[in-house]
Amino acid sequence: MNIIFVGAPGAGKGTHAKKLSEMLNIPHISTGDIFRDNISQQTELGIVADKYISKGMLVPDEITMSIVKDRLSKEDCDDGFILDGFPRTLVQAEELDKFLEGKNRKVDYVVNILVEEDVLIQRLLSRRVCSQCKSTFSLSQTCVKNDTCPKCGGKLVKRDDDKIEIIKERFISYHNQTEPLLNYYAARKILRNAKGMESYEQTLKNILEAIDITK
Ligand SMILES: [Zn+2]
Repeated sequence: MNIIFVGAPGAGKGTHAKKLSEMLNIPHISTGDIFRDNISQQTELGIVADKYISKGMLVPDEITMSIVKDRLSKEDCDDGFILDGFPRTLVQAEELDKFLEGKNRKVDYVVNILVEEDVLIQRLLSRRVCSQCKSTFSLSQTCVKNDTCPKCGGKLVKRDDDKIEIIKERFISYHNQTEPLLNYYAARKILRNAKGMESYEQTLKNILEAIDITK
């Protein structure tokens, strides 16, 4: 199954995409994670990507496209994949379709996690990521104490783009560039909305129903 996760920043794309990838045994491909890894390792790609991400801007289409095509060409994607954080523009969506068509494949579902904007902003401000295992937590979770990862004991840090002024820029990018994607996929009847305001478990249940998986 080939699935795309969309939704505004902080909607829970990463968390749920990761979970679903474990359930379906297909890779979870997060362009954000790929960029952040490269930034922390100061690779050539990371240095370029950082110029955009640190301002809340989208990395240019041609850079993102080549990374995704590379990744999707790997063998572990043969049985399916979950894309998270990609595509973010109409150009990227069209390019992805062309690429998949060339391999006789297509996107099966586009999952749009729906959460109200003021809730998202609060979530992003309290979000922390483990610097070791990359798990994501919220300061509101009782298991999170002293900026220490409950899973591995690593140090929890704020993502560079989770600062209020950058968050605002990310929402502007989302409204201008990513929202038009929803119409594109809705027209092809593969867009599935899943409410993401309630608990983690309820949101996961909504997502599974949206893509016709019943546990
Ligand atoms: Zn950890």
